[in-house]
Amino acid sequence: MHIKPKVKEEAIHLSDLAWKEFPPTLSSGGIRWKMLHASPEMGAWTAIFDCPAGSSFNPHFHVGPGEYLLTKGRMDVRGGSEHGGDTVLAPAYGYESANARHDQTQFPVDSEFYMTFLGPLAFIDPDGTPIAVVTWDEAQRAYAG
Ligand code: ZN
Repeated sequence: MHIKPKVKEEAIHLSDLAWKEFPPTLSSGGIRWKMLHASPEMGAWTAIFDCPAGSSFNPHFHVGPGEYLLTKGRMDVRGGSEHGGDTVLAPAYGYESANARHDQTQFPVDSEFYMTFLGPLAFIDPDGTPIAVVTWDEAQRAYAG
């Protein structure tokens, strides 16, 4: 076995990063994001999302678990509480388990959340067929794009 070097620490001021359009093929309503960190060894990635009123993410599932902090607004996850999912109002924390399927993630008011993903996001057709898999590496390249 090789002795591994430690990963270098990082600190970033959010004001030093530009808001960029989240791919409109994966969302609607003008969602923007800032990619904050990628962890190649863990396959993890972290971002903050700005979600205008009426925006949503296209159907997807989380290959690994994820944790989020809703810092502003309201998020209806898995259809929201009216449809068996969760509705959270900021400030709120949430945990989504590995293979959590999100057919509907909607933001009825201007919202913002921070999330760390362990593993990729798989965007899917209504029948569950993956159509785009966003790993830590695709995410960092899309943001740098
Ligand atoms: Zn999700």
